[in-house]
Amino acid sequence: MQLLERFRARFAAPAAIYGAPGRVNLIGEHTDYNDGFVLPAAIEFYCWVACAPRTDRKLVIHSENFSETVEGNLDSLSAARKNHWGNYPLGVAWALQNSGKRLNGANLLIGGEVPLGSGLSSSAALEVAVGFALLHQSGLHVDRTELARLCQKAENEFVGAHVGIMDQFVACHGRPSHALLLDCRSLEHKLVKLPPVIQLVICNTMVKHELASGEYNRRRAECEEGVRTLRRVLPEIQALRDVTLGRLEEHRALLDATVYRRCHHVITENNRVKSAMRAFECGDNRALRTLMRESHRSLRDDYEVSCKELDLMVEIASAQPGVIGARMTGGGFGGCTVNLVEATAVEAFKQNVATRYLAKIGLSPEIYVSPAAAGVRQIDVSSSNFGQR
Ligand code: ADP
Ligand code: MG
Repeated sequence: MQLLERFRARFAAPAAIYGAPGRVNLIGEHTDYNDGFVLPAAIEFYCWVACAPRTDRKLVIHSENFSETVEGNLDSLSAARKNHWGNYPLGVAWALQNSGKRLNGANLLIGGEVPLGSGLSSSAALEVAVGFALLHQSGLHVDRTELARLCQKAENEFVGAHVGIMDQFVACHGRPSHALLLDCRSLEHKLVKLPPVIQLVICNTMVKHELASGEYNRRRAECEEGVRTLRRVLPEIQALRDVTLGRLEEHRALLDATVYRRCHHVITENNRVKSAMRAFECGDNRALRTLMRESHRSLRDDYEVSCKELDLMVEIASAQPGVIGARMTGGGFGGCTVNLVEATAVEAFKQNVATRYLAKIGLSPEIYVSPAAAGVRQIDVSSSNFGQR
């Protein structure tokens, strides 16, 4: 096991290995901060953490991705430089300790295979893997939902990124062959079985347009404005999650035209998530195709978070044989699309999509293929299928 050998070379000790997955959201975009529903699956791209205890109160953390080491003292944890990767693992230790868990000092070696910053949630994979490792090495335990919450808290309050809980939740609760229907308000969740012949194929447009974070904040504000306005006539609502399509149409005249379209996206998208769950449950691929297409259209036209590269990638993918559904995934303005593809069609899909996208945009897309994967766990390093990592 190579990560173990490299840990031994660096820290002169044996270690245990932990892994937490990245994720892709199949449907339910921009619904999380509206208290709505999402349907992500964990993917077989993991953040690996080799970890062993120390006798003092230090954390010494080396990331192979950055070829850099950060250190922290468990009794006085504070954020490293702004935007520094070290804030993620140190923030997790901070959140765990603030929740009353007294951790042991530890050495950690991090090797991440989730592409960084591509919308596949390398950050949550890192947080959850580190949190799980530190707890285990300290002889402590929290349940998986609590671990997800604490990792989200670390990212919100220590790293300073205002993310929802979806990424951490699925990194904790992912299950092979399943997606996860998550109610972002109650955190109730349900496993949704994916057909064994389906592969999750993620196409990276290789672009990230500048406006992403400013527009994200603007969309959040527009949704809040929608709720404020609708609450004048629907005092019982807390979030767009509580508004039916019928009610929205009834009170359409009260809303600014743009705010109406934003609300329309969120409300119809929540409905699509629940329909997609039912379509998976009864194997209705035609319904899935329509739902993913409608989700993409709604994100493009009502929510206005797509871009020409995402639209083209979806258009090319949708025309390929063996494709059950295709749409943009993540916040938008670049990043990735998610495609449900029959396993036998995946190789041709990859080649055709890459060739056509390159011809039109001039960039070679990265294409990642994965079955739905398991959530965070300790790895049995003696098992043969881990030998190559
Ligand atoms: P995403 O979660 O979609 O990949 P983010 O911007 O949320 O994108 O998180 C990416 C950041 O997470 C990286 O810039 C880095 O700071 C941190 N990160 C993720 N994986 C690793 C890793 N293996 N080692 C160190 N830092 C990592
Ligand atoms: Mg992230």
